[in-house]
Amino acid sequence: MSDKPGIPRVDLPPGVHLDTLAVREGLPATPWGENSEALFLTSSFVHPDAATAAARFANEEEAFVYTRFTNPTTMMMERRLAALEGAEACIATASGMSAILLLVMGLLKAGDHVICSQSVFGSTIKLLGGEMAKFGVETTFVSQTDVAQWRAALRPNTRLLFAETPTNPLTEVCDIAALAGIAHGAGAWLAVDNCFCSPALQQPLQLGADFVIHSGTKYLDGQGRVIAGAVCGPQAEIEGKLVPLMRSAGMCLSPFNAWVVLKGLETLSIRMRAQSERALALAQWLQTHPQVERVYYPGLASHPQHELAMRQQNGQGGAVLSFIVKGQAQGGPELARRHAFHVIDSTRICSITANLGDTKTTITHPSSTSHGRLSEDQRLAAGITQGLIRVAVGLDDVQDLQADLQRGLDTLTT
Ligand SMILES: *Cc1c(COP(=O)(O)O)cnc(C)c1O
Repeated sequence: MSDKPGIPRVDLPPGVHLDTLAVREGLPATPWGENSEALFLTSSFVHPDAATAAARFANEEEAFVYTRFTNPTTMMMERRLAALEGAEACIATASGMSAILLLVMGLLKAGDHVICSQSVFGSTIKLLGGEMAKFGVETTFVSQTDVAQWRAALRPNTRLLFAETPTNPLTEVCDIAALAGIAHGAGAWLAVDNCFCSPALQQPLQLGADFVIHSGTKYLDGQGRVIAGAVCGPQAEIEGKLVPLMRSAGMCLSPFNAWVVLKGLETLSIRMRAQSERALALAQWLQTHPQVERVYYPGLASHPQHELAMRQQNGQGGAVLSFIVKGQAQGGPELARRHAFHVIDSTRICSITANLGDTKTTITHPSSTSHGRLSEDQRLAAGITQGLIRVAVGLDDVQDLQADLQRGLDTLTT
């Protein structure tokens, strides 16, 4: 919830920019005048008398009632994230996945149809293609980059298009404005998972999307501390559909985690810029290494959607890159896998973990971790080969990171 009348707003001059909103938007300070936002660890709020309590429970008076659906710390995070995305409203959730669950449960009903990119986050595919199908919501999965496939998948009952860009781990970029046009032409909504770019680089609502999904676990927190999520979108749908569902279903964000994300947002744009710069430098260097077969990074001119990405992502490639280490052609998938493991195991700085969005650079082997539950055929269809390594670049010194990868790349044996 972002904009309950009766709960005051921070008094900022009109037209202030993203960096100012990132450190200022929220709620006014309490009478104590704290400069850093307070953490309200309380499950409920006290009312002056029974009649006021009744009015507040009946939504006749705006006030904080119970932390499952109203908490000042959580509201500060919601208002700040909404401001960064240019959204009317935002609702925080316990995780990125529960943000997607809240969105589809709140907007859709049995008999509705969803179109989703086949390259989205694995749990999103399981949630839409598996769990939601049990409740009569059917999803068609289409190409990330071929807009014609999205248009061809439309049905009279299509209510939602769901996209994520760039994708993990191959950084494929879809055209948000084109998908918004297709959705709106069919009377459907477009939701975009903006996890990889964050509003510091990409604002999907400005490109025509209706909803933005966030895993706050990644760049919004930015230091790998909490699980969090959020949905940003129009006031009417958030207040009218998602807040009541949150009140009944309860996938709420802990105020403690909301506070961590709130403070993370203050440094989001400088982190994203710094991490993007490091990722670009690393990607450019990897492209020149004789043991590297291919580099996937939207900031490289060799990326198939480079121009679209630069237009859509504020001229920056983001902090995630992937590359294929040589080996497949010489010794098949087994040698490719051995080479990838050697490069990963030779690092002494990078954290070997499938998480991303941390200040600590992480390195992972997608085909045996994030995509390990797929069959080898499914993996190959998705372009996830045994030689593929994903690096989510943090704030480590880029020369140190280069040396960390070079150690393994320079010592590969056949
Ligand atoms: C991590 C992630 C999610 C899920 O977020 P959680 O906070 O882990 O539930 C959704 N989408 C993308 C793109 C992600 O990377």
